[in-house]
Amino acid sequence: MAKATETLLEIDLNALDNNYRYLTSKLKSETKVLAVVKAFAYGSDSVVISKELATLGVDYFAVAYSNEGETLRNAKIETPILVLHPLPGNFEVIVNRCLEPSIYSRKTLEAFIAFAEARKQTNYPIHLKFNTGLNRLGFGENDISFIVEMLSKTNSVKVKSAFSHLAASEDLKLKEFTLGQIEGFRKISEELTAKLGYKPLLHCANTSGIINYPEAHFDMVRTGIGLYGFGNDKEENKHLKPIGTLKTVISQIHEVQKSESVGYNRGFIADKATRSATLPIGHADGIPRSYGKGKGWVTINGKKAHILGNVCMDMIMVDVTNIDCEEGDEAITRAESSAGVMWMPRPKTPLS
Ligand SMILES: *Cc1c(COP(=O)(O)O)cnc(C)c1O
Repeated sequence: MAKATETLLEIDLNALDNNYRYLTSKLKSETKVLAVVKAFAYGSDSVVISKELATLGVDYFAVAYSNEGETLRNAKIETPILVLHPLPGNFEVIVNRCLEPSIYSRKTLEAFIAFAEARKQTNYPIHLKFNTGLNRLGFGENDISFIVEMLSKTNSVKVKSAFSHLAASEDLKLKEFTLGQIEGFRKISEELTAKLGYKPLLHCANTSGIINYPEAHFDMVRTGIGLYGFGNDKEENKHLKPIGTLKTVISQIHEVQKSESVGYNRGFIADKATRSATLPIGHADGIPRSYGKGKGWVTINGKKAHILGNVCMDMIMVDVTNIDCEEGDEAITRAESSAGVMWMPRPKTPLS
């Protein structure tokens, strides 16, 4: 691969293909696949990733917010898109761009039906989210009668799927809890299907659910982190390849003398002569400030260079005392674990 001459995130689509094939090898052939591409496809590039996944044949995409779905539609992606966390203020964009809302409360159900009726929609696809233990978003099982009664009075919407989200599928110590969630979801699905009179698609497994709980696959699975190259243990990670490599270059090297300091608030004080390399990447680019003072590192010419002092907004300084390198050389940061996925630029909207 080409050497970086500025900060860039290299995305390896072959790794994505590998991860997709590995994860789908765990499924029955009829099980559908929803790819979660929220938050810039976990900090990479949702358009590039979704286009590749569409060619691989994914059945669905999911985003957190409607504007993320709009970005995919603007890029001419025609696969159905589930919006996991819509608010009533987003319904206009959702309907205009053929996005499909997750409906997770009585309020969002009433508001969406009213909106769909005002827009003269029929059978607009909605997805019912049930809370089975995460206590984040979702109806409770006691809401089923209310939901079915609301739906019986309108033909503006139709339940395309019903789903839930596992709280701890990666942690086998919590297996009993997870099996309880799966069983709870099964019961809710049965009651809902019986009362609705038709069967929506059912789904509750995330990546770790795919790997650890075949009984949670139902009609469709939702995978995010696995596609980007991280499973839930070392064994699984052998089959998955991180899709992203964040590269940057050394812009300047300083010879720091004993008792001099580096960076804001004198975050690093040299106890011996130290060579410091400045890199054009900082917390605005997703290098957390908590990586400062030696906790985070980059790789330069095959060796680890730890962060000196505090992470600046657009720069970090790293220790290259024992590394043979010069200005212009490449530095590589690679996400080491799912917790270490970096590079999370956020859309910036000015407040008016
Ligand atoms: C983010 C998310 C996922 C993806 O989970 P992974 O563990 O990354 O596979 C699935 N479902 C919901 C509801 C989510 O919010």
